[in-house]
Amino acid sequence: MTSIALLLVGDELLDGRTADKNGAYFAGQLREHGVAVSRITTIGDPLAGIVATIGDLLQAVDFVVISGGIGPTADDRTREAVARFAGVDLVDDGVTWDEIVQRFEKLGRGAPSEANRVQALIPRGATRLPNPLGTAPGFVIKVGGKRVASVPGVPSEARRMFDDHVLPLLSTGSAIPQTTLLFAGVPESKLGHLLADEMVEREEVRVGITASWSVLAVTVRAADSALLESTCQRVRAIGAQWYVGAGARRIEQLLVERLRSDRLDLSLAESCTGGLVASRITGVPGASEVLQEAYVTYSNAAKQRLLAVPAEVLETHGAVSEACVLAMVRGLVDRSGAALAGVVSGIAGPGGGSADKPVGLVHFAIARSGVPEAWSRQYGDIGREEVRQRAATDLLVRLTRATSQAGR
Ligand code: ATP
Ligand code: MG
Repeated sequence: MTSIALLLVGDELLDGRTADKNGAYFAGQLREHGVAVSRITTIGDPLAGIVATIGDLLQAVDFVVISGGIGPTADDRTREAVARFAGVDLVDDGVTWDEIVQRFEKLGRGAPSEANRVQALIPRGATRLPNPLGTAPGFVIKVGGKRVASVPGVPSEARRMFDDHVLPLLSTGSAIPQTTLLFAGVPESKLGHLLADEMVEREEVRVGITASWSVLAVTVRAADSALLESTCQRVRAIGAQWYVGAGARRIEQLLVERLRSDRLDLSLAESCTGGLVASRITGVPGASEVLQEAYVTYSNAAKQRLLAVPAEVLETHGAVSEACVLAMVRGLVDRSGAALAGVVSGIAGPGGGSADKPVGLVHFAIARSGVPEAWSRQYGDIGREEVRQRAATDLLVRLTRATSQAGR
C-alpha cells in the first residue's frame, strides 16, 4: 500500500496568521478511502527548506502531497523546489497561459501580468492537474519510483483538486470499513478507561476516541464488516448509558439525519449561543428539509417581541432561568408550529455573572410535539467561547435524543 506524507507550505502557517485547513481535510479524505497518512509536516516558504523536506519525506514514504506555494508571487516557490528536487527544469505546460488570459478576460480584469506566467510552468515530465477554481494548476511528478503532487494553498482550490485529481491516484478502491459512534455526558477519560480493552493496538481493529466539546466520537475501523459489527456492538454496550447514535461524525449531522428520517421539523431560539446551534445545523447538507427557523433573541425585548415571553417572567426570574426558557420554547412552538423546538439562554461571561447566577450557567428547553422540558447546566467560568460551544453541543445532543432513533 502506498505510504503518504502531506507537506504544508507557507510562512503564514508557522506564525499563527493562518490555521491549517488542508492537512486535516486531505487526511480525512484519505482515511475515508482506506489510506492512512503517516506524517504531516508544515514548513515555511524558503526554497531550500522545501527541497530538503521533500527529500526527507521521500526517505520514509512513497507519495508526498504538497499544498501551497504555487501562486504567482515571489514567495511561491513550490514548483521550483520540486523541479530542483527532481533535477529537471520548468517548462510551459502549453495550456495554462491561454486559460489564464481567458479567465482574466472573462472576469473583466484586463490582461494578466507577466508574474502570472510562472503559473503556466510545471516541472518537465510532470502531469498537470487542472484547477477549475483558480489560476494555478497543480501537478504530479514521478521521481525515482516515488511521486510528488502539488496543489494550491487556498483551501477551496486545494480541496477540489485533491478530491478530483490526487485522491484517485492514491485510493485503493476499497474503503476500510468504519463506523463512528457518538456518546455524550461522559468524560473522555472515563469512556476511554472503560473501552481500554477495545482500544488496545491491533492490526485488524482500531478504536479511537475524539472529543468535540461535550460529544465523544468513537471511531471503529476493522479489516472486515463482520469484525466491525461485533466491535461496534461491544463498544455500544459498554457505553450504553451515554450512547447517542451512530453513522455520523458530528452531532449536528446525526441530528439532521434523524430529523429527516423521522420527518420532524425543527425551530430554534438562541440567546447566549447567538445562532451557533443554527449555524452548525445549516452547515449540514440537507438541513433545509428540517430546519424551519431560528431566532437569535438576545435582548429581553426580543424575547418578548418575538417569542411572547411575559414581562413578569423576565422581571421575576430573569432571562437566564427555567421559567424564561420554558416561556421561550412555548412561544417558539406557538409561532412556528414545529414538531421539535429548542431554546437556550445562559451567561457565557466573562461578565454578567452573580452569586446565584454565576458565569457558565445555561438554561435549556426543548419541546417535542408541544410538550416542554427544561434543564440547566453549570459549565463554570471556562471562557466565553467554551461555554457557548458546549451549550450549543448539549442542545444538539438533547434534540437528537428527542428523535425516535435515539440510542440506536
Ligand atoms: P495562490 O495562487 O492563491 O497564490 P498558492 O498555491 O500560492 O495559491 P499560497 O500562496 O501558499 O497558495 O496560499 C494562498 C492562500 O491560502 C493564503 O491566504 C494562505 O494563507 C492560504 N493557505 C495556504 N495554505 C493553507 C493551509 N494549509 N490551510 C489554510 N489556508 C492556507
Ligand atoms: Mg504561500
